Formats: sequence, C-alpha cells, structure tokens
Amino acid sequence: MPDFDLPLLTLPTRADAADAAVPRLLIIYTGGTVGMALNRTGELVPMQFGRLDRKMPELARLPYHVALLSLPAPIDSSNVTPADWLYLAQLIGRHYADFDGFVVLHGTDTMAYSAAALSYVLEHLAKPVVFTGAQVPVGASRSDAQRNLITALEIAAARHPRTRTVRVPEVCVFFNDILIRGTRAKKMESQQFAAFRSENYPPLARAGIGLEFDDNSIRLLPGAYLQVHTNLEAGVAVLRLFPGITEAVVRAVLGIAGLKGCVLETYGSGNAPTTPWFLQCLAEARARGVWLLNVSQCEEGRVVQGKYETSSHFEEMGVVGGDDITTEAAVTKLMFVLGLGLEEERTRQLLAQDLRGEITL
Ligand code: ASP
Repeated sequence: MPDFDLPLLTLPTRADAADAAVPRLLIIYTGGTVGMALNRTGELVPMQFGRLDRKMPELARLPYHVALLSLPAPIDSSNVTPADWLYLAQLIGRHYADFDGFVVLHGTDTMAYSAAALSYVLEHLAKPVVFTGAQVPVGASRSDAQRNLITALEIAAARHPRTRTVRVPEVCVFFNDILIRGTRAKKMESQQFAAFRSENYPPLARAGIGLEFDDNSIRLLPGAYLQVHTNLEAGVAVLRLFPGITEAVVRAVLGIAGLKGCVLETYGSGNAPTTPWFLQCLAEARARGVWLLNVSQCEEGRVVQGKYETSSHFEEMGVVGGDDITTEAAVTKLMFVLGLGLEEERTRQLLAQDLRGEITL
C-alpha cells in the first residue's frame, strides 16, 4: 500500500505566516536531473532533496507560503510508470484542499507523458498543477533549476488581476520561458535549456521580464469537485509506421496478448499503407476489440481520415482519428479512457472528442 502520509517541510519565505490571503503552494519532488548528483562512476543519479531552501536561497524571497514534499525514492523519469501517475494524482488529491497550487519537480525525459496523464486523471481540476524540472542539477553553477522553479511557483500562485480568480487552473509544463498545456507538451531538446515545445497550440504564458499570460488559450471550466481517477489501462502500445515495415512487425505488435489499445503513428494527415496484409492486420486487431488511435508523425497539422485514399479505410474499420493530438497525450488518453471500462460507443466518443484540451476543434 503506497504511503500518502509523507512529511511536509515548510520552507521559510517572506510571507506572513498569519496571513490567510497569501497563496499556499506545495512543491512535490519526484526526481529528475533537477535533484541529481554524480555517483562514484560519474553517472547522474537522483538524490534526496533534503533542505531545498539551502540549495535555493532565493525561495526565501517569495511572498507565498511554500511547502515541500519529497517522494521517498526519487527517480529518473525514464523509470516512471502509470502507477507513479496514479500515486502522484492521489497525493495531489490528498493535499488539494490545503493548497492553492502545486508544482511538480520531475525529470524532463517523460515529463510530457506525466503531465498529459495527470491532465486526464485529475478531472475537474480548478487549481494549477505545474510540472517543471531542469537540464542542469540545482547544485551546479549554471543550473536552470532556480529560474524554472521560481517561475513555476509564480504561475501556480497567479491570479487574474481583476477577478482574483486562479489564472491557470490546468495541468501544465513550465520550462525555460514557456508555459505549455500538459496535453500539448513535447520534449524536443536534450542539450539546450529550451527543452519543450507546445505542439499545435499556443503557449499558455511566456516568461520574460514579466509573465505574459495568454488568457484566451487557458481553459476555464465551470467549477466542480476534483475527481481523482484511480485506474489506467496498462495494455497499450505504440506502432510507428515506416516504409518497409513488415507484416511480422505489425502482427507482433497488434497481436500482443492483453493488448487493449494502440496508437498508430501514421504519415502526414493520417495516411498508411493500403497493402492487403496491413489492412487485414488492423481488421483482425479491431475484431479482437483492440482500439486503434490514429496519430500523425508530423509535428504540426492534423489527422483527417479519408482525405487521401491511403486513409479511407480507417473510418469503416473503426480506427479513431486523433486529430492534432500528440503521441504523449494519445498514449495516456488511451490508458485513461480504456481504464474507465465503458461500453463500446461511449469509449469511441471519448477517444474521439477533446477531453483536456488535447485536440483543437
Ligand atoms: N533523465 C532525466 C530524467 O528525466 C533527465 C532530466 O530530468 O532532464 O529524469
């Protein structure tokens, strides 16, 4: 049974402890380069964070109440699993009433998947959950951790100047200088500080000398109680097409025992070979109840099934068009929707429709 009663460390800041109007923020440290150090053989490994405020004295200048919760065993995000997403979501659920915003310190490698997964699992979210991390560990002199974390905290605390309501009630990723919706983030750079891009959607905010929010792009949904979902379907795969892909490869992937859903990474506007064996493999998978979600390999644009003859079979086969969804969001959306265990028609509707801003209508 996972431990949810982890100790909270209150960080000293310049906020008046007695002032209830001051935003209360919770940092959840999960691991990643941000908190890594070199081991004896010279590899970066995740460390216990300990007193973050000692590594980042600038935190003390923040005008917010800030608490830190470190996971007992921080990980490199390459080891993240759906169980970690559900645990993180539950943790946020546990502390939801006590904090105004959350900042998740996370490795960059799978941050886009985690942010998308949390977007689905935290339904009716009305507070910010901002993922961030660093390309260089916090202790290093050229670290980007300070800048990323301080700005993520400012975003988590941000209110509309007029209405004083929450500015970004979404799961999102802040990195370098842009704020990206959780279901639109993509890691595209492993060597530069600008590690993420927002795919097919404008950034929700840009950080320069000030923070410029694009309020028209931020989702403001009618308030409701947060629902933390507790199930994700594990039987999901990704099949990326390439010219020359063989029947054996397609059969092996689509024939995986227990497979419930597969993201088909197709070409251009959702096109794929029309070779009979390929169509036969897809038809057999569909007959076994495997859901196929068509996502384009292109970084921009969208899937339009039936635009070309090479995608005209998909609709009648029941392949769901993913529109302009990213692979990261498609994988986690399949896990989430199939994890709901709904009947066929409702499952199809949910897969096809925009659930968390992952599709531009
Ligand atoms: N391997 C690291 C991770 O994802 C990379 C990073 O954090 O930048 O945990």
